[in-house]
Amino acid sequence: MTAILLDGKAVAARTEAELSERVSKIKARSGQTPILATILVGDDPASATYVKMKGNACRRVGMESLAVELPSSTTTEELLTTIADLNANPDVHGILLQHPVPSQIDERACFDAIALEKDVDGVTCLGFGRMAMGEPAYGCATPQGIMRLLDAYEIPISGKHAVVVGRSPILGKPMAMMLLGKDATVTICHSRTQDLPALVAQADILVGAVGRPEFIKAEWIKDGAVVVDAGYHPGGIGDIELAPLVDRVAAYTPVPGGVGPMTINTLIQQSVMSGEKSLG
Ligand code: NAP
Repeated sequence: MTAILLDGKAVAARTEAELSERVSKIKARSGQTPILATILVGDDPASATYVKMKGNACRRVGMESLAVELPSSTTTEELLTTIADLNANPDVHGILLQHPVPSQIDERACFDAIALEKDVDGVTCLGFGRMAMGEPAYGCATPQGIMRLLDAYEIPISGKHAVVVGRSPILGKPMAMMLLGKDATVTICHSRTQDLPALVAQADILVGAVGRPEFIKAEWIKDGAVVVDAGYHPGGIGDIELAPLVDRVAAYTPVPGGVGPMTINTLIQQSVMSGEKSLG
């Protein structure tokens, strides 16, 4: 079997071309450029790299980014004040709070302080609840990016058994709800799940979002499955043991170049949508 490579890098690049045109139209109509505010708290190098990549992606489509950098000693109250200021700033169309924030900060309270119309990274409880109920909301960027990637390759979802390994608020949980919203039968696995290999073996669509290098073994996965690896670890390793699978699955995301580019692309796409809504 020749597996389809779910090429997130290529899909993201194609979409960027379309987003550039939409940004040009916003500028022509309103004289303004959509702006994504990025908030980086502390000095974690990986987070700094992700924020930089997101700012670069804004510029590639002609948008601006407003980089807010706060020290690692920032309190919840200080961060809430920053978010309130960005919510009130009419020039800002989207707000990204880079996860994770230092441990003294109540991350959930800060995520939920982001105004729904500026929640272009899809991290608020309100946005999650609306998405889960099938109401309009910006999707959480990584799972929404995965859904867009599956859609780009016309991967059938309805009636399939989707197994999501991981239940984090920004990945596993919204992923499961999005697949359910497309009529998959969904199993969510986590650290207390019993006999994970047996559940993974049932997956027509498998999403690995565990945060442990090659934790999900190739031998657990059935032939013909669609395999989505959200993990990223140094050396280009994901959460799934991918190499032995490429000849016997229906489709798979490479690491890197699968889910990662779609995450950033989704954030930018949703920022452009927000800009279109407020600037016309
Ligand atoms: P996380 O918050 O650490 O969540 C990990 C999840 O895996 C938890 O739900 C945990 O279960 C579950 N888990 C841990 N050990 C397990 C085990 N032995 N068996 C089954 N489940 C287990 O991680 P995350 O933020 O969701 O990220 C997951 C992965 O995606 C990471 O590799 C991360 O780097 C990657 N990621 C990629 C992007 C991207 O843009 N490409 C974005 C975000 C994250 P419990 O809930 O029971 O603890």
